[in-house]
Amino acid sequence: DPVIESRDLDVYYGDDQALQNISFEIPEQQVTALIGPSGCGKSTFLRSINRMNDLIDVARVEGDLFFRGKNVYDDDVDPVALRRKIGMVFQKPNPFPKSIYDNVAYGLRVQGEDDGDLDEQVHTALERAALLDEVEGQLDTSGLELSGGQQQRLCIARAIAPDPEVILMDEPASALDPVATSKIEDLVEELAEEYTVVIVTHNMQQAARISDKTAVFLTGGRLVEFDDTDKIFENP
Ligand code: ADP
Ligand code: ADP
Repeated sequence: DPVIESRDLDVYYGDDQALQNISFEIPEQQVTALIGPSGCGKSTFLRSINRMNDLIDVARVEGDLFFRGKNVYDDDVDPVALRRKIGMVFQKPNPFPKSIYDNVAYGLRVQGEDDGDLDEQVHTALERAALLDEVEGQLDTSGLELSGGQQQRLCIARAIAPDPEVILMDEPASALDPVATSKIEDLVEELAEEYTVVIVTHNMQQAARISDKTAVFLTGGRLVEFDDTDKIFENP
């Protein structure tokens, strides 16, 4: 079964329609890339999945968006709980002005995780985000003192600490230098062994390199193609 299924999804900002009639299914434990020109609704789609759009009060959603068969816009869905199941990473690394440890522990503390288990989970998340080796022994340092690439991996560790099923990434490497970018790309592929990853990118080569499935959006907020990445990028 698909993890996420969008069925006739429309999203409006006031009177402007950002997404039109989007229907497709996102498979489990793969990387699905959302590509297309700027302004075609990629971020809007991503934010619809975990109801980040709720935080933008002009956004209005019509149609259906299912996570594991449950419509995320049903009245009984708690968006905060949903966002722990569906973690998110943004274009600009945005660690909290707190220690590395506290950044990663944040979501676990909110969940009421007892402090005895916290250390192990913090270390595991840092390891899965390919950051532990670089920060071990300095977890008390502020996350803001890390390099850009490390900050982004810290944000990934923060997103995966509460053990989500899905990780949404909105151009996670586009603010980084080439070396940091390639580390993030490698990490994305590794993460798909445990999680379902949905990544927005404007970089076609990046989509071709790291994704299994590709959804192509076009200006006007329409989905024009969704298929195996190999098929999308093969020469006609
Ligand atoms: P992309 O991620 O593909 O660049 P977006 O989802 O950011 O596209 O934007 C899709 C359309 O929705 C654009 O026309 C953009 O101007 C508009 N839009 C995005 N966010 C908002 C917002 N918070 N309020 C109003 N319009 C928005
Ligand atoms: P090491 O990796 O060698 O164990 P760390 O700097 O990673 O050294 O941290 C040592 C231990 O100190 C961690 O496993 C954790 O138990 C604890 N620790 C570090 N920073 C914090 C913090 N901000 N809050 C609570 N405990 C912390």
